Amino acid sequence: MMLIRDRWLEGGTEGIIKIQDPATEEFFAEVPKASEREVDSACKAAADAFRSWSRSLPKVRSEFLSRAAEELEKRTEDIAMLLTREQGKPLKESKGEIKAAAGALRFFSRCADLPVGEWRAPNRSGTLNFMKRYPIGPVAVISPWNYPLLLTAWKVAPALAAGCTVVIKPSSKTPLAVTEFVKCLVEAGVPGGVVNLIHGRGSDVGMALVRHPVIAKIAFTGETETGKVLMREAAEGIKRLTLELGGHCPLIVAADADLEAAVEGGVYRCFRNMGQVCNSINRIYVERSVYKEFVRMFVERTARLTIGPGLEDPDLGPMVDEGARKRVVSHIEDAVSKGAEVVYGGKVPEGFEKGFFFEPTVLANVDHGMISMQEETFGPVAPIMAVDSLDEALHLANGLRYGLVAYVYTRDLGLAIRLADELEHGTVGINNVIGGEVEHPYAGWKESGLGFELSEHALEEFLLLKHIRIKWELK
Ligand code: NAD
Repeated sequence: MMLIRDRWLEGGTEGIIKIQDPATEEFFAEVPKASEREVDSACKAAADAFRSWSRSLPKVRSEFLSRAAEELEKRTEDIAMLLTREQGKPLKESKGEIKAAAGALRFFSRCADLPVGEWRAPNRSGTLNFMKRYPIGPVAVISPWNYPLLLTAWKVAPALAAGCTVVIKPSSKTPLAVTEFVKCLVEAGVPGGVVNLIHGRGSDVGMALVRHPVIAKIAFTGETETGKVLMREAAEGIKRLTLELGGHCPLIVAADADLEAAVEGGVYRCFRNMGQVCNSINRIYVERSVYKEFVRMFVERTARLTIGPGLEDPDLGPMVDEGARKRVVSHIEDAVSKGAEVVYGGKVPEGFEKGFFFEPTVLANVDHGMISMQEETFGPVAPIMAVDSLDEALHLANGLRYGLVAYVYTRDLGLAIRLADELEHGTVGINNVIGGEVEHPYAGWKESGLGFELSEHALEEFLLLKHIRIKWELK
């Protein structure tokens, strides 16, 4: 269903999009596809509602967001089933995603009445200067398929808290859980037009949305190449943008590291959600003296991961579709053709003829001439490379166009601080692989993004600054 103003539309005038279960390959649901006219209606609804929502009391917006969090939590079980069926991830991961999305709604409900202005000491006698922030306008919220609900909530919650209205376009691969999320917002009492939902592919519906003249800001998570297209489109109307894009996240393991912890963290961050996470570890640099031992322990830990349909709650479900699986195979083939050794996995697991399953794969003897060391595989592949020094690892870790997250394991505090300072990434995890937390800002450097999400500062991304100068001494 799509939501335009306060009307749910069962059918779109452009036909339907079929949704496939990646564990069974069955098409089990469908959503209507928006036409250009429906995109236009949704944007106009957001523009009409902006006048009153942007002037509503922050307290009202805050209460609404916390009611929405309650609605979402109440529906965790049934939405988790849908999320697992459309995306493939294990049920416990789907529940975790919903819990985190409710957490984002709650966090930003507490941010709605944060100060939006400041007084300045006068620089001329008889004047007052103050700076005040205003909601930017209707926002296009465009989210990807890997964490469809959470990444939509990360944008919608601060946008609504700031007083903006939204038109949401989820990925056409995973529109179902986001639709239920929007139902929770409606159930919580959002006024008509404040939240709108349309479905369709990025190349037509997404493009029509970002081009629409009433859209003042684009809040996007997705591939770096799509981000570049959106930047070019945004240039036409000097629209504001927040871009959370692709990554190629390094893990550096020093010889003095707690190897067990590094392996535990590394295996989790390489293979969680089948490696289909922006902050997945894509390449591992290990000091040569502990390389063999690290690879042995890594393989041993990987072999204990269970694989199966997400509804059965294994460690790993299927990949999202055949295209994603083919990319993984091509990256492995490229690495092997250039001398890499597959030390674990590398194929479709036995007994999984249906569904887009793939074994978690560990590659040894890799180097930077291989595609998997340069481009995001977005799949369950862990290439492990030996380095002669940590300076070499640092140089390689900073050598790509991406700069999202980097991880380091070491017991040397001085080294940890030096690497944290010198790694050119928006987030650095030392002796941990904890992912995006709503309390802390999350931002990609270089081609991994523009602007940031999360933390109370994320509100600023939905506000415009105005300087008001008052001359009160009239003489
Ligand atoms: P994608 O760029 O293909 O699509 C993302 C969204 O953009 C979808 O809703 C899609 O329909 C839409 N879209 C595509 N082309 C468009 C266009 N021309 N105009 C408007 N909308 C358009 O990305 P994906 O395959 O869904 O997601 C995977 C990518 O997302 C990976 O690169 C991953 O690293 C990245 N990602 C980044 C973060 C982060 O926080 N940095 C988080 C999750 C995923």
